[in-house]
Amino acid sequence: MSEIALKPIALPAPIPVRELLPWAVFGGLMLMLMIYFVGAEEGATSLIRSMYVHEFVHDGRHLLGFPCH
Ligand SMILES: [Zn+2]
Repeated sequence: MSEIALKPIALPAPIPVRELLPWAVFGGLMLMLMIYFVGAEEGATSLIRSMYVHEFVHDGRHLLGFPCH
């Protein structure tokens, strides 16, 4: 009979919701800002007067199916 010493299994440390919530809110706001710039930064809803932002996200706009031109 052989005895094999196994290494203890490394378990991931749980992250409390209290520490995770601010980052989730921050990430959600950043995602909503990105969706705004990709989907609505054009014409009457434009925050920035020039077309630089629109042209920068133009391919993503078509990829995601937002109406463009
Ligand atoms: Zn377009």
